[in-house]
Amino acid sequence: MLRVFNTLGRKLEVFEPVNPGRVAIYVCGPTVYDHTHLGHARTYVAFDVIKRYLKLLGYDVFHVQNITDIDDKIIRRAAEEGVSWRDVADAYTRDYLDALSKLNIRVDLHPRVTEHISEIIRFVQALIERGHAYVAPSGSVYFDVDSYEGYGELSGRLARELWGQEQEVVKEKKNPYDFALWKAAKPGEPWWESPWGPGRPGWHIECSAMSTLYLGEQFDIHGGGSDLIFPHHENERAQSESALGKRPWVKYWLHTGMLTVRGEKMSKSLGNIVSLKEAFSKWKPEVVRLWLATVHYRSVVDFSEEALHQAQRNYERLIAAAKTLRDLLRKGEYSFRLNEEGRSLLGKMDELRRGFYAAMDDDFNVSKAFSYVYELTSLVFSRIAEKPEGAVVLRAYALMEEFNRVLGVLDGLFAGGPPLPFEQLVELIVEVRRKLRLSRNYELADWIRAEMAKLGIKLYDRGEETAWQLA
Ligand code: AMP
Ligand code: ZN
Repeated sequence: MLRVFNTLGRKLEVFEPVNPGRVAIYVCGPTVYDHTHLGHARTYVAFDVIKRYLKLLGYDVFHVQNITDIDDKIIRRAAEEGVSWRDVADAYTRDYLDALSKLNIRVDLHPRVTEHISEIIRFVQALIERGHAYVAPSGSVYFDVDSYEGYGELSGRLARELWGQEQEVVKEKKNPYDFALWKAAKPGEPWWESPWGPGRPGWHIECSAMSTLYLGEQFDIHGGGSDLIFPHHENERAQSESALGKRPWVKYWLHTGMLTVRGEKMSKSLGNIVSLKEAFSKWKPEVVRLWLATVHYRSVVDFSEEALHQAQRNYERLIAAAKTLRDLLRKGEYSFRLNEEGRSLLGKMDELRRGFYAAMDDDFNVSKAFSYVYELTSLVFSRIAEKPEGAVVLRAYALMEEFNRVLGVLDGLFAGGPPLPFEQLVELIVEVRRKLRLSRNYELADWIRAEMAKLGIKLYDRGEETAWQLA
């Protein structure tokens, strides 16, 4: 039974999706004004691991991760570089999608803010109609925080004095802690038409509008880095529950621990970022992914070269173990007996599998889960490859493939399902053809040779014997 740690309430809860068998996840994606860095990757990989595990449990998962393609930072960057805000957003969107693909992360939908302006306007309108938002003289619209009684519950900031600190100070607001849903256009800035005049969406409203549009008015998991709990997620929750009139809007709030460098959050503003481009020039994306996939999603991860070297060694060991099993299967180099030792190995692997699931069920405890993966690799080298027995090799291979469905670093190796004993199949065809030639059925024998050549397998007849080679 899966349990997850819900930031709302700060406790472990049994995971039961809103719609049985299906899981809807929304993760806050990037503001595309700069290169994707290791800090972002930490959060994206963590949610990919969570999603893959839910899939392994048999859920039909739909994962939405937005792209904020209009924002103060994008506008500022465009002005600095003398290009349009659209060029900045497009360039860093490509950088982000490329990073996800290298990290083997598949997101089902990447909604962009600028393509959802009308849905955002409708959401703001609903808030005004329900008395939760007001239009200020400038044409900006603000959320009236006092109108929502659950404000502060998610972040645990229950005192009003704590609310104003990270919100913008603007005179026209009723209260300093009210936040913008719609920002009236300023000269030279991009704008869209709205019932309140030209302007653009505030930061928080996009996630409420787009998640609701694609995942429904109540959905299962809302995620992001723990840096987003306040004010972003607090505000999202307040405006969504106010506009939709339903509670809970989100059933489980999951937040990742930050990636730090010498104890400080990796962020553009602190000037300590390692871009993924830079990281991938030193380490394979699989190594970066393995490093991030094997730390608990709620832990703080400190970046160090040593941590990546360790991930590199772990990756090499995993690859070596998987290749050993694959080659044994391909070449058919195993016995068909199952001795006492083999039976005990099968039992041991059952234990590893149970251990893996129990750890993942405990709020996705990946570090514990992967200790079982590494135990399996040890078994491969120390016992399974020593005296390979077919049933044991096959089981170990299947288990490795199962673990990799969450890990996602060995996909190339497992692509196309379990390997057939290729060499034995070719030998079998060669033997059938030898028998055909002995019975003088040369026509069929020649046809086989021609067809095999088309598949890239060359046959050479030497008297009665035939040798073969891959072209
Ligand atoms: P941003 O573009 O800064 O809004 O970040 C996009 C996503 O990456 C959000 O879910 C953030 O919480 C997450 N994120 C940004 N920096 C870090 C970091 N240093 N560690 C972990 N997650 C981060
Ligand atoms: Zn968001």
